[in-house]
Amino acid sequence: MTIVDICHSLRATRDPAMCRCFQMFPCLADPARRSSLFLKLALVATHLTYAGILFLFDEDLIENTKKEPWYTTMYLLLIVVTLIQYFVTSISSPGYVLDAMRTVNETNIVYRKTSTTSNQPASSKNGSLIVTVDRSQTGRNFSGSNSVSWLKLVTDLYPPGTPIRTWTCSHCNVEQPPRAKHCHDCDKCVLQFDHHCVWLGNCIGLGNHCRFWWYLCEETALCIWTGILYISYLKAYITRLWWKDAIVILLLIILSISLIFLLLLLLFHSYLILTNQTTYELVRRRRIPYLRGIPERVYPFSKGACRNVYNFCCVRSSVHSLERLPTRQEIEEKSRPYTCLDVITCRCC
Ligand SMILES: [Zn+2]
Ligand SMILES: [Zn+2]
Repeated sequence: MTIVDICHSLRATRDPAMCRCFQMFPCLADPARRSSLFLKLALVATHLTYAGILFLFDEDLIENTKKEPWYTTMYLLLIVVTLIQYFVTSISSPGYVLDAMRTVNETNIVYRKTSTTSNQPASSKNGSLIVTVDRSQTGRNFSGSNSVSWLKLVTDLYPPGTPIRTWTCSHCNVEQPPRAKHCHDCDKCVLQFDHHCVWLGNCIGLGNHCRFWWYLCEETALCIWTGILYISYLKAYITRLWWKDAIVILLLIILSISLIFLLLLLLFHSYLILTNQTTYELVRRRRIPYLRGIPERVYPFSKGACRNVYNFCCVRSSVHSLERLPTRQEIEEKSRPYTCLDVITCRCC
């Protein structure tokens, strides 16, 4: 529906003010973008309210700021950093399959295959394709072993003989690498799909999961710090003005509930990172074809906790790291029960 169509329907309801508003701000014409924008405004308003109430009510904080400005500066800086992280995450690309496909098909790429051999340790057996765009070659007609099509690249990630229709998205009509999923909110296929975050109005996937984790970290730290400041205020000022105490206690209750939710979410995503899983894979494990038949406590894409954290922090944001499906032999190796020797040699790491 275009802005003109919306204006026509609004004229029918005699609301020219809304029509003028949509003409001035076209982004408001789309209901999804409108609700996302209001959510962002609500988030900024919530942060400003919590900080504003403190500076309005707590005279000690003002006095302390005059004596030791660094403490308040650090707190205000954390608010700004958290808000910037929120906005950056909300507009960052989660890694769309279509974008990766275009990159691979339109530019020359260099790709490196982490192949597996039977004498490798279990932790390094799970191979992956790390696709790096070679910008210096862009525009040249490059052919040979370095040139690879998207279809060939995706086919290599599945066990031989897997029918192509099982990994072709029926909505986008693109070949999905393993772990990719079509998001019905974004109407796009997302690489290593985690979830569609309503709070951010964006999908969380391969490209921005790291940013999302850092946002959770910063928001949790900010909640804890704000909670400490609110409790300090109550200790110093309780029984002076009841209505001020009532407002602070109400905000503190909301803050505590938010903090519990954030802490649980942070722990949950930290666990996912350590085991190289996604929320979608964990929740829909039995319904995802490539995870069917794999024992519950076996993480098929895990390369060991340390390697998983390294890949999560350092590899994923810069290149398209496409992971292939593990073979039956690799799954059996991962399912092997832990022995004393495995514990000593840190098999899980
Ligand atoms: Zn799709
Ligand atoms: Zn989405």
